[in-house]
Amino acid sequence: LSFSACNLPDKLLHNIEAAGYEMPTPVQMQAIPAALTGKSMLVLADTGSGKSASFLIPIVSRCVIHRRQYFSGKKKPLAMVLTPTRELCIQVEEHAKLLGKGLPFKTALVVGGDAMAGQLHRIQQGVELIVGTPGRLVDLLMKHEIDLDDVMTFVVDEVDCMLQRGFRDQVMQIYRALSQPQVLMYSATMSNDLEKMINTLAKGMVVMSI
Ligand code: AMP
Repeated sequence: LSFSACNLPDKLLHNIEAAGYEMPTPVQMQAIPAALTGKSMLVLADTGSGKSASFLIPIVSRCVIHRRQYFSGKKKPLAMVLTPTRELCIQVEEHAKLLGKGLPFKTALVVGGDAMAGQLHRIQQGVELIVGTPGRLVDLLMKHEIDLDDVMTFVVDEVDCMLQRGFRDQVMQIYRALSQPQVLMYSATMSNDLEKMINTLAKGMVVMSI
């Protein structure tokens, strides 16, 4: 499988090439085609496997196509990525910007350490993707009205690490604010807690072990 066989928007394909990605990594080969069809899945893969692009490429593609087909009026977020730390969020957002360059694809960061007002303002102006930590996102959801009805894809990155840090309830709270999105979970390891979470979030989701 090559990137050009994935039916991606031309500009996205160009951005992938410009990033220097010649061939999809094994996790990308498995996850990208499945994610593009809207399937929910748990991907067992380590950092360094190319996992971020394996969810960001389908997100950029689906957002661009969705806006092209259905856009009318207010731009609401179409995708959300949760990661356990501010640093990871910054990294994922940078990566998303690189892949979405030149496309109608805006991003917002929702993490601690920056003023919440600015983050909220950016979302209200219209973004496709929100990247955030669970704690800050729950704060934002509780204090402000953000319309997450249109979120099609919900990514929980490093979910094993999140469960260890006690983020479970916050992740579930955020999930409940969405309307039945595609769920993509990434974890290095499988655990009982993770299995419980899968059963509530997306029973019967595909499990990919790379
Ligand atoms: P990640 O596992 O998402 O942290 O990615 C690890 C590194 O691999 C990042 O620096 C990516 O930019 C890079 N990368 C991701 N996909 C590819 C690819 N298909 N070819 C070459 N490098 C890649």
